[in-house]
Amino acid sequence: MRIYLSRPHMSGHEEVRVAEAFASNFIAPIGPQLDGFEETMRDYLGADVHCVGLSSGSAALHLALRIAGVGPGDEVWISSMTFAGGIFPVNYLGATPRFFDLDLASWTIDTVRLAEELALAAAENRLPKAIVPTDLYGQSTALDRLEALAAQYDVRLIVDSAESLGAAYLGGRKAGTGGDAAILSFNGNKIITTSGGGMLVTRHKDWADQARFLATQARDPAPHYEHSTYGYNYRLSNICAAIGLGQMEVLDTRVARRREIFARYKAALSRPGITFMPEPEGQYSTHWLTALTIDPAQTGVTREDIRLMLLEQQIEARPLWKPMHMQPFYAGALYHGTGVDEGLFANGLCLPSGSDMSNAQQDEVIERIIAHLN
Ligand SMILES: *Cc1c(COP(=O)(O)O)cnc(C)c1O
Repeated sequence: MRIYLSRPHMSGHEEVRVAEAFASNFIAPIGPQLDGFEETMRDYLGADVHCVGLSSGSAALHLALRIAGVGPGDEVWISSMTFAGGIFPVNYLGATPRFFDLDLASWTIDTVRLAEELALAAAENRLPKAIVPTDLYGQSTALDRLEALAAQYDVRLIVDSAESLGAAYLGGRKAGTGGDAAILSFNGNKIITTSGGGMLVTRHKDWADQARFLATQARDPAPHYEHSTYGYNYRLSNICAAIGLGQMEVLDTRVARRREIFARYKAALSRPGITFMPEPEGQYSTHWLTALTIDPAQTGVTREDIRLMLLEQQIEARPLWKPMHMQPFYAGALYHGTGVDEGLFANGLCLPSGSDMSNAQQDEVIERIIAHLN
């Protein structure tokens, strides 16, 4: 049996919720399950925020950037090490990304470098419209520092929390409550899934109202169809939201299991040359995927050796995200950093981390890696 990197893990209650959706006949991108999913998420996040269910995390980012006023000629400053869905919406809007390196102590955006560049840009009157840090592999970015910088320079802050639902920043503050807005993803490989979906979480009521308006084809109030701007068909299906309701019941146990998987790998595989993703003191990562680096000089093997060996055994592992400034599509884009992210990509590997993986399956992964290292 194949061992996957991260696959959907149902609670068993989703089908009950979907049946309720069918009974209500809201087989549509509106309905009681969608309202309920948004309310459940707001209660879970426990903050004064508004939640808008959308068809994907990328759609949520697209709307957030548009509401932030991002358009042609604007810059968006963004973590280079991220997934494509966390950056492409910048291009949808005709804006230009400028990429930032990671801080090695947290593997999230380097706020020291960001602060330096903001000061320079302010002096030259070329500040970005928005900053988009990524909660990499479920680790919250330095929210306090980023929110202070965004306020100081009057720049919008949109946090990509697609991988960090269930994580906490300092003081137990939940990931997904940061910035002007945060985006969540319920894609099939995430902590919880609605088969596909996303959410915009924002403390601004007018941002949430705008998002609902733009996500339903920008319909002005009128009996006919009246449009003063253009919109999108981005609302979450009520059926998908019903799946989300079932998944919310088990969110915390899913996160706990992912953390346990990380801890088991760390206990078994730690040795000179193998470094696990750090977790800053006082923070709580989802460890959506267990990420580590393998130094070939110390271990005698590369991450590709390990990945291909596992693949032969029907075990799926993946290199870390390839930094966006290294992607052919973004060749020539501006990048500020010393290549911390490039180093992580060169030697980094994500191991199977799905919450439905059994201990026996994980032990098999661990044993094969240990045998290959020796
Ligand atoms: C999954 C993900 C997204 C995009 O979410 P979709 O729902 O797949 O559109 C964006 N950013 C990051 C960091 C992600 O991991």
